[in-house]
Amino acid sequence: MSKRILSLALTFLLVLSSVAFSIASASNLSSEDQEKVDELKEKKEALGKLIEENRSAIETYKEQKAPVEAYASELASQIDSLQQQIDVLQEEIAALEAQKAEHEKQIASLNQEIAGVEADITQNEIETQDVKAEIDEVYRQFKKRLCEVYVNGSASDLELLLDCDQDSDFSTYLIMVEISQRRAKSDEQIVEQLNQDIAKINELTAQLNAMIAELEVKKGEQQAQIEALNVSEMNIEADKSSLESNQSELQALKEEAFSQIASLEKKSDASAQLIEQYEEERAQIEKEIDTLINSRAAKSANVTVNPGGFIWPLQYSDVYISSSFGYRYDPISGVYKLHGGTDTCCSSGTMGKEVVAAADGTVIISSYMSGGYGYYVAIDHGNGIVTLYGHNSSLNVSEGEHVNQGDVIAYAGATGYVTGAHVHFEVRVNGEKVDATNYCSP
Ligand SMILES: [Zn+2]
Repeated sequence: MSKRILSLALTFLLVLSSVAFSIASASNLSSEDQEKVDELKEKKEALGKLIEENRSAIETYKEQKAPVEAYASELASQIDSLQQQIDVLQEEIAALEAQKAEHEKQIASLNQEIAGVEADITQNEIETQDVKAEIDEVYRQFKKRLCEVYVNGSASDLELLLDCDQDSDFSTYLIMVEISQRRAKSDEQIVEQLNQDIAKINELTAQLNAMIAELEVKKGEQQAQIEALNVSEMNIEADKSSLESNQSELQALKEEAFSQIASLEKKSDASAQLIEQYEEERAQIEKEIDTLINSRAAKSANVTVNPGGFIWPLQYSDVYISSSFGYRYDPISGVYKLHGGTDTCCSSGTMGKEVVAAADGTVIISSYMSGGYGYYVAIDHGNGIVTLYGHNSSLNVSEGEHVNQGDVIAYAGATGYVTGAHVHFEVRVNGEKVDATNYCSP
């Protein structure tokens, strides 16, 4: 009978709470506060959307960046390989230049030798001219004497002869010449000697000219080698400049890729900054909501709903407490701080297990908190008592909904700030977190 009355009463309560939820809420929370909560939740959702948008934008930038980076690094390795080839060619050119310089040195030395020999030849020519002049002088003297003899007839050898002025027959002339020749004998010897000198000088000149020819041949050989080296060098230079132009093309492509990467990184950084900003705003909003909810719980302290006490949120035989309420080292940050709830698990695995309401009450939060409770539910049990169930994989109730003790409100999971699947079970009295095991136990 009492069960029936209770169920009727509960039905009545449910109807009352659903029909006049805003009025019922008003009894806990002023309509102004309710509006504020609704507004905050809306803002929070909008921020969540923006955060998601920016996260997916960052993902997109990352996806766009990866192939560009691969391309840029491929280009860089091609540029390096070309540089190695260019360096080899540059070394070859340097070696050719060194060889050319060696040949040019030899040509310079040959030119010096040629100049020396040419100076000798000039000297010989001067000497030859001198000797020729001497010979000319001897002839001139001879002719002069001959003419004197002929004109004056003063020479003793001609005493027998007729005077030059008088007509003379040819035999007289011949005799005269013979005499003159006899007197010229010594001149002839001198001339012969001089001619021999000229011959010697000419021979020397010929030798010197031969030497010059030989040196010119050597010089020609050196020049031919330089020409050959120039041809090789030109070919290598052509190869090198072709490689260099390839390289500069690749360099331009690489720079373009880098600027693309930089632009994507800039966009990604901007999105990351926005996410940070939005998350801060969202955390602030969550704090504000939490404060409002705590004040709501405090205001509803005079409502009595839980006659049957509290039950543990995981109703399984293999349930256990994995981390108790109290100060501990945070399993993620390592910071020593208050663990405001009791963590509970099932040894057969916690993921997907039913999470039940610890007592009757009204769902005041059924939401997601990133970096915190994940998917969580908070139930107001009246008397200033609120229970909270964190890190669920999914939620089974809506805010404003009345729940009975043992109703499945969520399914356990590992969302939010966690290292693994568990239920974070909190009991708050007048907004203060207290040890849940004072109220119930697994
Ligand atoms: Zn916990």
